[in-house]
Formats: sequence, C-alpha cells, structure tokens
Amino acid sequence: MINKLLRLLFSEKCPICARIAQNHYTAPVCSGCWEGISLYRGALCEVCGRPLASEESITCGDCISDAPLFKNARSFGLYDGVIKEAISLFKYHCTKRLSKPLSDIMLKIKMPEVDLVLPVPLHKKRLRHRGFNQSALLARHVAKRISIPLITDCLVRVKDTVPQVGLHAKERKKNIKNAFEVRNKCIEAKRLMLIDDVFTTGATVRECSKVLKKAGAKDIYVVTLAHGKGDF
Ligand SMILES: [Zn+2]
Ligand SMILES: [Zn+2]
Repeated sequence: MINKLLRLLFSEKCPICARIAQNHYTAPVCSGCWEGISLYRGALCEVCGRPLASEESITCGDCISDAPLFKNARSFGLYDGVIKEAISLFKYHCTKRLSKPLSDIMLKIKMPEVDLVLPVPLHKKRLRHRGFNQSALLARHVAKRISIPLITDCLVRVKDTVPQVGLHAKERKKNIKNAFEVRNKCIEAKRLMLIDDVFTTGATVRECSKVLKKAGAKDIYVVTLAHGKGDF
C-alpha cells in the first residue's frame, strides 16, 4: 500500500534503462536493473580482495611486496555496471536513500567478527560540501543490522586531500599520506571493521589501517561495496 502510494507520488525513470522504477526501495534504479547487481565469485587476492585472472585465489604481488596492515578486505561486487551507477547516484547526486539497499547488499558479504564498526571519514570541508559521508551512512546500517557499536569520532581526516578519482596508484598513495588521525583510545585492542564504498587501489584503507594499528587496534577488516577492476 505504502509502496503504491509512494510510486504514485514519485514515479521516477530508472537512470540505467529509462523504464519507470516501480520499487521505491531501490528507486530511482528499477528492480530489474537492481537485480542485475551480482556478487563477485571469481578468484581474488586473499588479502586485499583484488579480483584476479588466475584459476584460484592467491596473494597478489602488491600484498606480497607491501603487506597492508589490515587483515583482509572484501567487496560485494566489481565496480562496474549497475553498482557503479548506483554508487555514483548515492554519492554525487545526493540520492541518500540508496544507502539502505546498498548496505543490504554489503551485508551479503561474509561479515568478519569484530568489536567495532568504523567508516572511512571525510574531511570536514568535504562533509560540509556533500552534506553527508556516504561511508558513514553505509556503516550505520551495517552496524545496526549486525548489532555492533558504530564509532564515528575516533578516526578523523585531518588533511583535505584532492579526490582520489583520476589519480594513479602512486599519486593516490602520496595524496592520502598523513591524511588521518586517531582521536581517542576506544579502539585499543579491538577488532575493527572499516567501511568504505569503493576499494580502488586500497591507498585510503591502507593509510587508515596504519594510524589505527599505531593507535593500538588489534585486527582490521575492510568491507566495501565494490572493488575496482584495476582500470585506474
Ligand atoms: Zn532500470
Ligand atoms: Zn592483494
């Protein structure tokens, strides 16, 4: 009934297929397109979750030569197609309501056993500009559903970096260096789940893990919606 009423009030064209989105839950993306979002089932790096072309899952070269401080990173799908479109609507077009269906997707990942959930923070300037932190919205839903406390005032972004989009791996690493700080000790000896929307080169979550480990975190598990395919 409510869905019917909402449909009448807000019938929106799906930005992907141009049909009318009948389901308010995923609108403006129609349910047909939404159902096309699929879990990545191929081989991946056992540490950073990078999709691999190999037959089986192994540790990738990057993780061997420069092991990250997080235990592992896992994503739901590849950063492509409908999921890429949905993340972009959510993040850059203020379609905040997509945080709910997107975090439901995230919950399909095998959740690590943790004590606290933390989002990758935005710098306060960027937060003011965008009005919300997409990772914090995802983390809030996930934390609530798995009944684990959400901590948003511990890890902070102290450097207003230029967006990582469009930068190459080396530049990303340099850009994000010293961008984060840990403000309180609540993470000491705790197992953490660090949530972000997209894992591209991993530079951001690697840097976050560095300061979290330094501040005494026990284990860090990274969970993201989508993993870049390496085309950056
Ligand atoms: Zn559609
Ligand atoms: Zn790796």
